[in-house]
Amino acid sequence: MQTNGAPKSPINALANGRSPAASERLQIINDEKKFTPDLGEQIQRWGLHDAGFGYNIVAVFGSQSTGKSTLLNGLFGTTFDVMDETRRQQTTKGIWMCRGQNMNVMVMDVEGTDGRERGEDQDFERKSALFSLASSEVLIVNLWEHQVGLYQGANMGLLKTVFEVNLGLFGKNATNGRTLLLFVIRDHIGVTPLANLQATLTADLNRIWESLSKPTELQDRQLTDYFDLAFTALPHKILAADKFQAEVLNLRTRFADKDAPDFLFKPAYHKRIPADGVAFYMENIWEQVQTNKDLDLPTQQELLAQFRCDEISTVALAEFNEQAKSQRRPVEAGRVVDGLGGMMRNWRTDALTRYDRDASRYHQGVYKRKRADLIAALDATLSPLFLGQLKNLHKTCLVAFKKEMLDGLHGEGYSFADVVATARQRCLGRFETGAKEALVEETDWTWEDEMISLKEEVGSVADQCRKDETKKMVNLIERNFKKQISEPVELSLNKAAPDMWDDILRTFKQTLEKAEASYLAKATSFDCTEEENAGSLAALRRRAWQALRAKIDEQTAEPVILSKLRGHFEERFRYDEMGVPRVWKPEDDIDGAFKKAKDETLDLVPLYSNIQPTDPSLEYTLPADSIAIPTDSLSGEEFDFAATLVVFTETRAIELTQKFRREADAYYVEAKRSTVASIAQ
Ligand code: GDP
Ligand code: MG
Repeated sequence: MQTNGAPKSPINALANGRSPAASERLQIINDEKKFTPDLGEQIQRWGLHDAGFGYNIVAVFGSQSTGKSTLLNGLFGTTFDVMDETRRQQTTKGIWMCRGQNMNVMVMDVEGTDGRERGEDQDFERKSALFSLASSEVLIVNLWEHQVGLYQGANMGLLKTVFEVNLGLFGKNATNGRTLLLFVIRDHIGVTPLANLQATLTADLNRIWESLSKPTELQDRQLTDYFDLAFTALPHKILAADKFQAEVLNLRTRFADKDAPDFLFKPAYHKRIPADGVAFYMENIWEQVQTNKDLDLPTQQELLAQFRCDEISTVALAEFNEQAKSQRRPVEAGRVVDGLGGMMRNWRTDALTRYDRDASRYHQGVYKRKRADLIAALDATLSPLFLGQLKNLHKTCLVAFKKEMLDGLHGEGYSFADVVATARQRCLGRFETGAKEALVEETDWTWEDEMISLKEEVGSVADQCRKDETKKMVNLIERNFKKQISEPVELSLNKAAPDMWDDILRTFKQTLEKAEASYLAKATSFDCTEEENAGSLAALRRRAWQALRAKIDEQTAEPVILSKLRGHFEERFRYDEMGVPRVWKPEDDIDGAFKKAKDETLDLVPLYSNIQPTDPSLEYTLPADSIAIPTDSLSGEEFDFAATLVVFTETRAIELTQKFRREADAYYVEAKRSTVASIAQ
């Protein structure tokens, strides 16, 4: 294969106002009938790759050395080799291609199509005809004026081949394969008017058409069903050089100017191969032609579409993956990426737009199928990002919720229910906004399930908080309760009146009532269930009772109770009814007074021993549910309320009595001694 840039000097090229690449030519099929691997790249270099359908293809046919290359160079500013008169070198077989100067035209110079004339086989003639018809819009048939009317001549054989080949290609489907045959009659002297030449040629063409053996279903088809015919003549290039130039220029406008009345590249002739697919298409066509396979153009177009749509899709996907990669790490690291949805939508739209731009020109079925594949690939990449974002959102929203709860439950005067409601609303709102942002339209992605699970977790966090808060509140109430009962209970226990327990229980009940009321007042804001409230109240009652018992235990600990008894006794034995200290005289009934004070004091032991009010209505019983609450200890023992009513067991009562007796006896001895002492004075 050869690629020649001519003019070779870049300076010349620039002087001509074209980039050097634009004037490059390429032998697309060489004399060994091999197709070039470089056409795709060359089309890029010609700047036609992105032309879509906005380009044209023209090819020339005709005997050797009839000025075909000269004509093409004149018409399209191409750089095809022209036979050098001085050297008379043999023209090689093959097809060359150039880009038209300042025109989006691919020009094919088909060399050596006149094998017949040279006595060679017509293999290349047939193949190049097939190849040209499958891609070209205009086929220039170049001939000398003196060849016109030579029905048996080489040209006519060539045309017969063209017609046959065309029938095979577009037979059933004439509308898709319409081609313009432009006859250019060279060295027109002018004696025979063009109209006459045209009539002769047309008659010959029809005769050839008639002589073709057509398949039965195509018997009635006319030449004009497949071809438009146009005729033009050019004066002698050397003998009428100026007129020749002028006519060539004239003809050039008919190729170049879309608005010219006799514009030659009519849209109907276009073979609808997007420019970026021409190389692949032509190569395949040639491959088929070479291997003498049936050239089925619809199949070729589908193959082309598959290949190109895949290529276009791959490029779009690669760029897309590059973009998507940038956010994979942060998402995997647990970050909520701001505006991820927007980014994803943009990448996706960009990829599809890129794909649509290039691929939509190809076979629609293939284009759509590959588009669906592309979408699946895009979404498969995006979906983990979306799910990751949801998961991260879920986590951060929950963390924020916990923090807001903690902050909200700080200090005093807050309403638990309000704090929860606000935090919950903000948390779920944040999640929903974030999730909706991350959503990509046209996918079946959903975030609602994640939201449900978040709601559940928010609920259980709130529940835990409420339990903690309730506990805190119950503790506070318990502390207050202890403070409140401490003094009255101490006083009552000191007084040791017969209705001592009535007082204590009355205080207990009143204080507990207040505590319960204060619990209920606060609990309304906690949204606690009836059950939870009942539980909390039961715990409160039990703990209140235990607090009372603890106070009683403290006040009846041995040294304390002994001191109480001692005080009681002393008050009766060492002081008279007026509260004046007694000075014992010998005549005083020390024994009697001692016995009375002692008995009265010992009577207190049974009073202290059991929590037993005189008024039965004051008797207190812990409700069953308060008893059932397991204690904090791990003993697992059941709470025995009845046992808590016993302050001193019998044994302890006896012990206490004995200890007190000993102390009292000491007082008695002391009193006796004091009388002896006073007598002695
Ligand atoms: P090709 O083999 O058909 O491509 O013919 P070329 O373009 O290489 O030209 C072959 C020879 O014919 C060259 O020497 C040209 O100078 C000459 N030639 C080109 N155009 C014309 C023309 O219009 N009339 C005549 N008489 N000679 C021409
Ligand atoms: Mg030539």
